[in-house]
Amino acid sequence: MSWDLVIRSGRVVDGTGMKSFTADVAVKDGRIARVGRVNESALREIDADGCWVTPGFIDVHTHYDVQLDWDPLATPSSWHGVTTALAGNCGFTLAPAKPEDVGWLAGMLSRVEGMSRAALNEGLRFKGGSFGDYWSRFDGKLGINVGSFVGHCAVRRWVMGDDASEREATPAEIEAMQQLVRESMQQGAMGFSTSQIEVHVGEDGREVPSNHASSEEIVALASVLAEFNRGSVEIIPHSFAQGYDESDRQLLKDIYRVSGRPIELNILVPNPHHPMGWRATLDFCNEAFEEGIRLHPMFTTNQLELHLKLSDTFVFDEMLAWREALTRPEPERSNALRDPAMRARMRAEFDDPASRAISFEWKGLEVEAVADPSHASWIGRTVPQLAEARGIDPLDAFLDISLEENLETRWQTRLDEVARQFIHHVVATSVVDPIVMPGSSDGGAHLASFVGADYTTRLLTEWVPEPLTLEHAVWRNTLMPATVHGIENRGVLREGAFADILVMDPDRLAVGKVRLVKDFPADTERYVVDAEGYVASIVNGQLLLENGQHSGALPGQVLRGG
Ligand SMILES: [Zn+2]
Repeated sequence: MSWDLVIRSGRVVDGTGMKSFTADVAVKDGRIARVGRVNESALREIDADGCWVTPGFIDVHTHYDVQLDWDPLATPSSWHGVTTALAGNCGFTLAPAKPEDVGWLAGMLSRVEGMSRAALNEGLRFKGGSFGDYWSRFDGKLGINVGSFVGHCAVRRWVMGDDASEREATPAEIEAMQQLVRESMQQGAMGFSTSQIEVHVGEDGREVPSNHASSEEIVALASVLAEFNRGSVEIIPHSFAQGYDESDRQLLKDIYRVSGRPIELNILVPNPHHPMGWRATLDFCNEAFEEGIRLHPMFTTNQLELHLKLSDTFVFDEMLAWREALTRPEPERSNALRDPAMRARMRAEFDDPASRAISFEWKGLEVEAVADPSHASWIGRTVPQLAEARGIDPLDAFLDISLEENLETRWQTRLDEVARQFIHHVVATSVVDPIVMPGSSDGGAHLASFVGADYTTRLLTEWVPEPLTLEHAVWRNTLMPATVHGIENRGVLREGAFADILVMDPDRLAVGKVRLVKDFPADTERYVVDAEGYVASIVNGQLLLENGQHSGALPGQVLRGG
């Protein structure tokens, strides 16, 4: 027997959670052919002595839908060991789309997921069509494997046109939407995604289509999955920050009742106005599991600091006056931000804890970078410090400074020690809970605000060996997401499975620097985070990355359920 690839003498962590062991792993025709002793030689050999050998990581919460058009490696996720990603989360897909709606959907995606509109205009190649049309474009052109949910907003826009952003659907419209979800599932969708949070506002300043759906509509669309007996539902209900109100709890139970499919919930995170909302979420999901209802809340291990500029941020969109001002084109946007009456409304909203789910206080916001070098002295100073120096109120200081630089001043949130410790406590609690899914990277999204693609590496470097064993942490990054999302024959190192394999040097494994780079279409910027210690990343039996360098191969597949 001759093998295509043999990885020799590594510590095999097979993804099941079983205790690791030393073995060789042989690959033939894109599959794992042997785990054990391999005496024969191979076309290619990797010496893994002293290294961990694991299944490739699976990130189920990304928005790489568009980025793949110019970055088939889905960076920086692939640098952090991800060999399979699910796109199309939160209800925001570009397909199905009528040709005349592609621009509108791209504008929505740009706003809610923080992708530069200029980059999308230049980089997006899709001209409209079905879910299957969108993804068949990528056959043979991907570095990693990618599957996608079909998104509620696209489905709603197709059926209801502009009314999708205005009102509830009629029974006939709901039926037409069910048919579109059905066709998308037939074309390989990995499930159905939706969200109902107020911060999601399109370019036109209106809440996104899925926010206008009744519970009946959401349940009806999820019920289509039962016809296929596969796929999952990904949802962020509107009251997620508080741990779900009664009607959202009923909605989640009803989705499970009609679909029988696992439900993925974003995200377990402490919120200053609902500090224990994450705990309520965790308790509710565990109680639901006791009743047999599969609810998987998601946690993230990456830092929760945000970067923002008033020229393009979404983080204030749940406050109506802020939204009204910040979704206007220039120069009306700047004029609105100067207007004292508008400022009074904005101040009232900012000071009202009930109006914000994503929030921070002025003292936690500081200047990260200035557009005009003569303002360099502002860097590192918080909003209250800058306000005091000017003898004005913090909101006025924040807006005045931004306006002095055409809204291009870059701000950064900073967590204080108490907040840091609290977040540590939240993650420490979540990371050991059997139902909780790691993730929330939002890879491909919020490019100028934060980067969460390093969670896979952080799970192994910051939470192993305590409180997690290596084997358990690898299971969380591999077979757990594969199982919940029906990603077959991946996430595990066993004979016959697809050969998605990582070789890692535990002594070097680390999260590297967060960097701002300008490598996107239209010369736009994004944050990336480097990784160290990934010796080899193998996708479908082919070497994709060797010590972080791309081999040139594009062995990834479009995953199609069923
Ligand atoms: Zn998302």
